[in-house]
Amino acid sequence: MNKDVMQTEETRQAKNRIARAARCPACQLQLCKAREASPHDGLKEAERTAMQGADRAYTCQTCGITLVNSRDAGKPGWSHAKGI
Ligand SMILES: [Zn+2]
Repeated sequence: MNKDVMQTEETRQAKNRIARAARCPACQLQLCKAREASPHDGLKEAERTAMQGADRAYTCQTCGITLVNSRDAGKPGWSHAKGI
């Protein structure tokens, strides 16, 4: 039960972070690109990644957000990582 409460709190904090995070135009564009597209020039692959499997996390040097590139066909190719 406590775990559920904590997850709810984490979700709320993650949403707040996303609301505050302003994506730069290059990141905005990246989200529209195909799974196979290369990360834009400002994206550096994150050294520490919480992602499992074939997912890769990239941190933008311009706006500081983290984008995830997934090879999982059930997920979007590029997405804005939550809580990283
Ligand atoms: Zn960016």
